[in-house]
Amino acid sequence: QESRLKKTPWIVYNTSLEIDQSETLTLISDLKEAIQQNQLLLYIQPKVDVSTRRALGGEALIRWVHPQKGMIFPDQFIPFAEQTGIISDLTQWMLRRACEALADFKKQGLHISLAVNLSTRDLNNMELPQQIADLLAAHGLTTKSLKLEITEGSLMQDPERAEIVVRKLAAMGLHLAIDDFGTGYSSLAYLRQLPVQELKIDRSFVMFMDKNAGDASIVKSTIDLAHNLGLIVVAEGIENELVLNQLAKLGCNEGQGYFIGKPMPEKDFSIWLERWQGQNDIDIDIGDDFN
Ligand code: C2E
Ligand code: MG
Ligand code: MG
Ligand code: MG
Repeated sequence: QESRLKKTPWIVYNTSLEIDQSETLTLISDLKEAIQQNQLLLYIQPKVDVSTRRALGGEALIRWVHPQKGMIFPDQFIPFAEQTGIISDLTQWMLRRACEALADFKKQGLHISLAVNLSTRDLNNMELPQQIADLLAAHGLTTKSLKLEITEGSLMQDPERAEIVVRKLAAMGLHLAIDDFGTGYSSLAYLRQLPVQELKIDRSFVMFMDKNAGDASIVKSTIDLAHNLGLIVVAEGIENELVLNQLAKLGCNEGQGYFIGKPMPEKDFSIWLERWQGQNDIDIDIGDDFN
C-alpha cells in the first residue's frame, strides 16, 4: 500500500478544504474504521422527470461524518478509497444501505429507484453481479429498483474486464448509466456498444447553460446524440428553474440538481417528495408502473 501511495503522488487530492497532505495517511486509516464505527451516511438526491416534474427516485451519495473533522464529502475520500482498495467495502456498504432504503420506501408505498455509483475496482470485480443479485433477493427487490452509475474513466482502466462485468449486470436486468458524460475520454464507438440505458450529462455543462450559449449547445447536441443512440438523458446540476425549463424544451428526459433538491438524509426524502409533488401539482402516489 505504501509503495502504491508513493508511486501515485498527491495530485488526485483537492486540498481546498481543511484536510492537508500530511493528514492524508491518517485519513486513510480512519476510513478503514469508518464502516465499523458507523460513520458513513446514505444521502439521497432526488431525480425527476424533466417534462412532468414527477419524482422518479434518487441518486445514493455517500457522506462520512468523521469524529474530529465532521462531514467529509466523497470527492475528498473516494479517490483514496479507490487507490487503497477500501472502495470495495464502501461499495458493499452503499449497495446494502441503498437496498435497505429501497425496501423501506417500498413499505411506505413509494416505488422509486435509487442509483448507486460504482468505481473502477468495482467494475473489475467479477463477483459484483452475484453480490448484487444476492442483496436484491435478500431485500425482496427486483432489478428494476436499483440503477448503477459508471464513469467513462472507470471503464477505461481495464476495458475488457469491465465490459464482462457490465454485460453481466445488464443481463441481470440492471439499469446502467454513464455518469459525468462529457468529462472523460472514451470514444463514442466504445460507449455505443455497451449495454447502457442512460447518459448523465455532467453538471459543468448544465449549471450555467441559461447564461452560456456554448454550454447550452453542448447540452443540446448531447441530448440529440443520446436520443439517436436510444438512450435516456439525465441532466445533473440543475440549479434554477430556467435551466429546468430549457432542458424540458430540449427534450431532456430526467434531471437532478439543487433547484429540485439537494442530497439529503434518507428520512428527509419522503418530506421532500410531498413538498415537491405538492408544489408541482402532482399526485403523491408515484410509481404505479413500477415493480
Ligand atoms: P456524481 O455521481 O456526479 O454525483 C453528483 C454530485 O453533484 C454530488 O456531489 C451532488 O451533491 C452534486 N450536485 C448535485 N446537484 C448539484 C447542483 O445543482 N449544483 C452543484 N454545484 N452540485 C450538484 P457529491 O455528493 O459531493 O458527490 C461527488 C461525487 O462523489 C459523485 O459525483 C460520485 O462520483 C462520487 N460518489 C458519491 N457517493 C459515492 C459512492 O457511494 N460510491 C462511489 N464510488 N462514488 C461516490
Ligand atoms: Mg453519479
Ligand atoms: Mg454524476
Ligand atoms: Mg458529476
